[in-house]
Amino acid sequence: MSERVYIGLGSNLDHPERQLSEALQALAALPATRLLQQSHFYASKPQGPQDQPDFMNAVCLLETDLSAHALLQALQQIEQSQGRVKKRHWGERCIDLDILLYGDQSIQTPELTVPHKEMATRDFVLLPLAEISPGRVIPGMGRVETLIAQLEQTFVVPWVASNSNHTA
Ligand code: ATP
Ligand code: CA
Ligand code: CA
Repeated sequence: MSERVYIGLGSNLDHPERQLSEALQALAALPATRLLQQSHFYASKPQGPQDQPDFMNAVCLLETDLSAHALLQALQQIEQSQGRVKKRHWGERCIDLDILLYGDQSIQTPELTVPHKEMATRDFVLLPLAEISPGRVIPGMGRVETLIAQLEQTFVVPWVASNSNHTA
């Protein structure tokens, strides 16, 4: 049975917009999977160490027959093929792909927590998610717009290619 799955994408190394575009193409090419929607790209400040470049983030919607764990493995393969190397916790990376929502399922295993455990407080997830899925209710957390209203501050801005000279 296919599920609708939201994926969070992030990059702050080696041409982030190119990394996000490449990852979206790789997601669209996964077996038994269709890319249904993608948000604009958003620029955001790093959440972890501040001595690293700003991030670029996006959220996309897939429809897939892959199980959640098979999908996680596929995401990790895409990260590897784009040259992701673990440097430090919440540090710089050329691509990060997280499963935000897998249908309405709640999943708790050693490898996978869905809904993504931090998504309710992350502006760089909630704003692009609200763009492509207004009114979405996140199981156990609430409606995306309510969660946005509860953020103390937001730092993300939609990124417009024509007036950017991002060189990270
Ligand atoms: P965060 O999870 O806070 O966004 P991160 O993305 O930097 O941090 P990673 O180093 O990319 O963390 O991933 C660490 C582990 O998180 C992965 O090996 C994976 O098993 C696990 N994980 C748990 N839940 C998820 C999820 N919903 N999506 C992706 N990975 C997950
Ligand atoms: Ca992440
Ligand atoms: Ca991750």
